[in-house]
Amino acid sequence: MASTSPTDCRQALRTAADRLGESPSKAQYESLGLTPASATIVRTMGGWNAAKEAAGLETAASRGSRVQSKPTDVDFSEEAWAELSVDQRWHYRHREQNATQTLDKRAKLRAWVYGLKRERGCTRCSESDPVCLDFHHRDGVEKTANVSELVSNERSRDTIRAEIRRCDVLCANCHRKEHAHYRFERLDIEPSAMVAEFGDVSKERVDSD
Ligand SMILES: [Zn+2]
Repeated sequence: MASTSPTDCRQALRTAADRLGESPSKAQYESLGLTPASATIVRTMGGWNAAKEAAGLETAASRGSRVQSKPTDVDFSEEAWAELSVDQRWHYRHREQNATQTLDKRAKLRAWVYGLKRERGCTRCSESDPVCLDFHHRDGVEKTANVSELVSNERSRDTIRAEIRRCDVLCANCHRKEHAHYRFERLDIEPSAMVAEFGDVSKERVDSD
């Protein structure tokens, strides 16, 4: 059986919090039927509150103190701070942690996608450096989104995988040629014929006057 990672636990807790609209109790979490099970989360993270804390969610302890102290680096007066909801204060107190976790998650997703690109390589040539490789939606396939957008929006691997299945991997050069081909195709003329007809530059002087 695959082992459960802290990332799995944090993601599951955030999914639960999104669905419930609040930081989940163990019972609420269990009622959603998510995996990993709450017992696994407790074991992996060293406690339910520790797990929620790691996921950037409000914990029972944080609910206990009615007004948490204001971080020094936010633009609120003490009065305005006291008027925020518990959830809003929680967000401000943990925004750095949340931002870091978002970046981590995105970097991991991107690395995973890079791996898939490298594995496939360009469909047309031998390029296999993932930084030069694009996903090109195949002709006649319905495009839901750009794969890069799905990564930026931290969509699930299943969603990203489904979109990748609609694509060929092309390097930047081959991708550009592919799109140039479409343009010329619409004009019903081959690129080489186009150059012969409109692109004769033998009489032009560009380098000197
Ligand atoms: Zn190529």
